[in-house]
Amino acid sequence: MTSPLFLPVAELPKLLARLLELGYKVIAPTIDQEAIVYSEIQSVEDLPRGWTDEQEPGHYRIKPTSNDRYFDYVVGPHSWKKYLFPPLQLISRAISGEEGWTFETCSDAPEQLAFLGVRACELAAMKIQDRVFLDGAYVDTGYQRRREGSFVIAVNCSVASPNCFCTSMNSGPRCKTGFDLALTELDDGMFVEVGSSRGQDVIEPLSLHAATTQHLNSAENLYARTVSQVSKHLNTDDLRNRLMSNLNDGKWDSVAERCLSCTNCTMVCPTCFCSHVSEVPSLDETVVERQRKWDSCFNLEFTAVHGTPVRNDVRSRYRQWLTHKLATWHDQFGESGCVGCGRCITWCPVGIDLTVEVNAICGGES
Ligand code: SF4
Ligand code: SF4
Repeated sequence: MTSPLFLPVAELPKLLARLLELGYKVIAPTIDQEAIVYSEIQSVEDLPRGWTDEQEPGHYRIKPTSNDRYFDYVVGPHSWKKYLFPPLQLISRAISGEEGWTFETCSDAPEQLAFLGVRACELAAMKIQDRVFLDGAYVDTGYQRRREGSFVIAVNCSVASPNCFCTSMNSGPRCKTGFDLALTELDDGMFVEVGSSRGQDVIEPLSLHAATTQHLNSAENLYARTVSQVSKHLNTDDLRNRLMSNLNDGKWDSVAERCLSCTNCTMVCPTCFCSHVSEVPSLDETVVERQRKWDSCFNLEFTAVHGTPVRNDVRSRYRQWLTHKLATWHDQFGESGCVGCGRCITWCPVGIDLTVEVNAICGGES
């Protein structure tokens, strides 16, 4: 890694212009429907400058801040998986014609996406999804194409919400690997770390000066302050075995009484990857599309084997979700499926907090 650089705040538009000039479609935080969500931007004016978010279990609001920073928020309901593993994908199409049916496979056109504003926990989530979709015998070629075409600009968190527990999952709040460029927003500009040769190629023509010791100290202070704000903890010691030896604990019933099986937690989770495939005919039945859509282990139909659901009650579906995420994911992929981003807590309409449930079910409060 080369020495850190400094990008004065007034020159942030130059970085964006450089990405656009290289043909990247830039995806970044924006404000839409009173939330900070990821969307295509054309200008730094589209960023949520001067806004932050307020989060609690089952609660999310955005509000103006007293400063004019661009990235002074935590994470919203979107994650980058919607670009790398889109919610709806067309796999193939069957078309009826005079000569009978013809079949074609479909793949989305390769796009060069630049992700601006990726948090440390989100880098960890991308790494987890890489393992799911790229490792092993079966590679998801669509995911591979999208992932290889993407340019990642991480941004270190300057604030943590009460729902963040990245320090417990060893995934944040500081970005350490997995980025092309990493920014730390200081009072007068961005402390810039280069993480790849692609990052170097993008930043080189901007002729940035080296960061000073003062910039470095300010960045270190910001990292320490953010760590100190992470107040939620999950004791991960032997968590797999603690959970798996408490599968019949009565507390699963108590969480099932509150859980609406609404699927929100799985939709907002940056690592959940379940999907289903269905055939969708056109109204005149001359075209049938095979589509892959996000699905959730909270959906009754998702548990169907031979047409019969095997997890009939909410208790068994919640237990499946939690034990897969925090326990059997280790058996499957050699690591936890949770990066501690807190989205499932914020966006649960009844405020169920998986860290509280784990403590209730198998102890280990930290
Ligand atoms: S389980 Fe919850 S906290 Fe963990 S990665 Fe998914 S959304 Fe984030
Ligand atoms: S835990 Fe919350 S978000 Fe998840 S399915 Fe149940 S009610 Fe919905």
